[in-house]
Amino acid sequence: MYAPVLVINCGSSSIKYALVPASPDAPRLAGLAERLGSDDARLKGTDSRGERFTQALPGADHATALAAILDCLEGQRPAAVGHRIVHGGERFTRAALIDDAVVAAIEETAALAPLHNPANLEGVKATRRLFPDLLQVAVFDTAFHQSLPPRAYRYALPEALYRDHSIRRYGFHGTSHAHVSARADALAGIRGGWLTAHLGNGCSTCAVWQGASQDTSMGLTPLEGLVMGTRSGDVDPGLHAHLARQLGWSLAEIDRVLNRDSGLAGLSGLSNDMRELEQAADNGHAGARLAIEVFCYRVAKSLAALSCALPRFDGIVFTGGIGENSPWVRQRTLGALPHFGIELDGAANAATVGGREGRIDAAGPQLWVIPTDEEGRIAQETRQLIEEASA
Ligand code: AMP
Repeated sequence: MYAPVLVINCGSSSIKYALVPASPDAPRLAGLAERLGSDDARLKGTDSRGERFTQALPGADHATALAAILDCLEGQRPAAVGHRIVHGGERFTRAALIDDAVVAAIEETAALAPLHNPANLEGVKATRRLFPDLLQVAVFDTAFHQSLPPRAYRYALPEALYRDHSIRRYGFHGTSHAHVSARADALAGIRGGWLTAHLGNGCSTCAVWQGASQDTSMGLTPLEGLVMGTRSGDVDPGLHAHLARQLGWSLAEIDRVLNRDSGLAGLSGLSNDMRELEQAADNGHAGARLAIEVFCYRVAKSLAALSCALPRFDGIVFTGGIGENSPWVRQRTLGALPHFGIELDGAANAATVGGREGRIDAAGPQLWVIPTDEEGRIAQETRQLIEEASA
């Protein structure tokens, strides 16, 4: 299949798109429709010459924005549309060709991702209405982690909560962990045991053995695990009750504080942005220094914990905005794992930034920096599914 795949990531008031060509060297048209439903709605993107454009779409809803996106694809007709869907529950262990039954199943999963799945579905429904002949595929953030064994996905809670209410660990960032671990396999020439660290605004780690996720740091929701830009990651499960009793906070308030006011932003009192924090730490800002220290220690601690899930440990892969661009975070994280026998190549670490792929170990387990490509992976899974369906 040589035609490009249109990848759509639909939020409640935004649509991120990328037209992914079959050839990796061809330019990728990409952009974002934002502030949908408001007078300020607009479409921003990059054309095939690499030039940026902005188009006002006052009052546009998802359907109007999708039509505008199709209009700026420079006459290219996609072979299919790949939709990023956050939660596939236990039903979706891989991508799925979208039909009415799949839409209904995603709707049923909405209770597990009330902020994301309904918005993702909005994009699916609008695209199906606008382009009824185009094949559409749902690619789930959770699907890659459906290979977790029960010892990794079950919480130590009453069984009925799992049986009747689907409460378990699901994991997220699946397309990213799948992409970088497959790439590490290809680069190293093995079917390896990798610990992958996706460190961006959202952060998660994953243990991948021969292409299958064995454990991951996120759980029922993307709040579990590492310190993130504004999310707390792991806290004592008793914290909710404590805040409610002692401060009289409502559930909504606790949820907001843990999701939006915590993480790097909360610890530093300054910013959720690692670049800014590194600069501030260099200038002696105590909060920024502490935030980076806690962040790196928690990544190391998570990697050490997840190493228990691997029958053999071959190396660590860093990805995401921070993982790909911050030699400092990589060095501090690895510095907390001396018992892994890791030896970092300082020069290679410093040089591997700005979307470069490279190996940064001097000895011991392999260390890789591999830029993530969630859109490329969604396009690849979409193509694969459509080829299987037409075989
Ligand atoms: P993402 O969500 O993957 O786009 O990652 C966003 C995070 O990457 C933010 O915290 C950015 O500050 C961080 N980031 C991007 N570039 C750099 C850089 N050069 N150095 C440190 N952090 C960076």
